[in-house]
Amino acid sequence: MSRSTGRHFLQIPGPTNVPLSVLAAIAQPTIDHRGPDFRHLALEVLGGIAEIFKTQSPVVIYPSSGTGAWEAALVNTLSPGDKVLMAETGHFATLWRNIARRLGLEVEFVPGDWRRGAVAAELESHLAEDRAHRVKAVAVVHNETSTGAVSNIARVRRALDDAHHPALLMVDTISSLASIDYRHDEWQVDVTVGGSQKGLMLPPGLAFNAISDKARAASRDARLPRAYWDWGDMLAANADGYFPYTPATNLLQGLKVALELLREEGLPAVFARHDRAAEATRRCVRHWGLEIWCDEPADYSSSLTAARMPEGHSADALRADILGQASVSLGNGLGRLADRVFRIGHLGDFNDASILGALAAIESALLSRGVPAQAGGVSQAISYFAQKRRPMRAAAE
Ligand SMILES: *Cc1c(COP(=O)(O)O)cnc(C)c1O
Repeated sequence: MSRSTGRHFLQIPGPTNVPLSVLAAIAQPTIDHRGPDFRHLALEVLGGIAEIFKTQSPVVIYPSSGTGAWEAALVNTLSPGDKVLMAETGHFATLWRNIARRLGLEVEFVPGDWRRGAVAAELESHLAEDRAHRVKAVAVVHNETSTGAVSNIARVRRALDDAHHPALLMVDTISSLASIDYRHDEWQVDVTVGGSQKGLMLPPGLAFNAISDKARAASRDARLPRAYWDWGDMLAANADGYFPYTPATNLLQGLKVALELLREEGLPAVFARHDRAAEATRRCVRHWGLEIWCDEPADYSSSLTAARMPEGHSADALRADILGQASVSLGNGLGRLADRVFRIGHLGDFNDASILGALAAIESALLSRGVPAQAGGVSQAISYFAQKRRPMRAAAE
């Protein structure tokens, strides 16, 4: 194999490209996690991450993958046999459901076709029928990373309110946090699940639970077994700036810098940057003549786009070709979408050039492999960027 030259483009919808300043912070010497410098760092990142969730409530940070934070949300608030209402938005919703089942919860999984976000009206009718309030929690994936479809969480909140249902609301924001607008407090979400390796621009290894007062109260009566994930131990230690066990010290050093980058850019600008890259990508994909997998435009994701391969063509063969030819990694189809779609990540740390580079590599492979696709999609993305300019940084003006 010949040497791969130039920069690798990690255009998968997580993990995402980590800025050099974040990598440099992670490469600093590990500090004593029971010492004064750590306390300062912990209090800073615990406060800073709450701003990203838009909450005044505590956020706990686990040294784990996002899957751990899924489990933590459930074991801290629920008891064996409790009923959970979940929406089948795609592969990640299905994985969360599987965890709930393995923990001994009874899951009512509202079926979906994996091509749009959760349908709040359907959740509402399930809740309205549940007059005995057997459903203890409603769990929804905000941005379904397997399909590129977003669920309207404000609308799901209204479904609970309109049904006068007291269930907890749990939301997975692993691939939307710091990429797509999200409001833990305003939408009265009880547990928000997050992860480090997507919009937060960190490597994998940190996961989050933002916890409402109602969720905290529920945790006092919840009887599912829990030890490592126990909020009680974590919140007690966090109050003084420490952790009940060894935290991922160096990732927290990176998180501090990632939060500074997000604050410097400003969340509204971060969201606008993601919206803009997503629209440019969709215009390109449409021009090629490939179908955007999400078929509900109101639910289009700003952090990734899944494109459907024409019948008879392998998405995985295309991705392998793009990686070999151009050093661009794209997301594969997950679960029942295996080999049928490829996913273009446009989240985290990127700019116009990285998006255009990735799209150009895809277009080149489509044409050279004889996949039926119309040339010129990248020009559509270029035109969109040219027409919808980004606000320039003061220093560059
Ligand atoms: C990536 C992702 C997960 C899984 O996170 P891991 O860190 O792989 O455990 C869960 N939900 C969504 C929506 C994701 O995008």
